[in-house]
Amino acid sequence: MTDSCCCPPEAGNAVCELPAQNFQRPPRAANVCPECGKTAKPIQGQTVKALLSVSLREVRDADYLFCRTQTCSVVYFSPDDARVFTVEQVRERVYQKEPDRDDVFVCYCFRHTVGHIRTTTPETRVAIVDDINIGINAGQCACDLRNPQGSCCLGNVRGLIKRVEASAVVMAH
Ligand SMILES: [Zn+2]
Repeated sequence: MTDSCCCPPEAGNAVCELPAQNFQRPPRAANVCPECGKTAKPIQGQTVKALLSVSLREVRDADYLFCRTQTCSVVYFSPDDARVFTVEQVRERVYQKEPDRDDVFVCYCFRHTVGHIRTTTPETRVAIVDDINIGINAGQCACDLRNPQGSCCLGNVRGLIKRVEASAVVMAH
């Protein structure tokens, strides 16, 4: 199990957080969320356009960033623009904002919810990660258009599984 991103373009590899070869990250100077002050991650314009529920007449052609802070209502914003888009203006519930809600997707392309990952068996969790990998390698994902973070969900799925299994160990003692 490697933590590097070897995903195809439709998995949003251009903005993936995982280390990728041959990809220069843009400078992080102004990448701070105007609401929570935390560093946000660059996101492709097509992700913002695909995920917003507002008229795209309100979306300027600018560089957008994605705020991952759980307690912050801002999802997308542009450093060059006063405009911010909050959770109410996004068509999907955002995993980073509600990571413990059972009906929120953690994998948007192949539709795995937090609740399913949490309640299923450890064997099925392994099978889900394998299935996501197979889907990505087969070019069946569209993380740049379906996942609000605009890149592949594997890091989130693995992180969620670790959290679920750690809390199961705590509860068993
Ligand atoms: Zn924020």
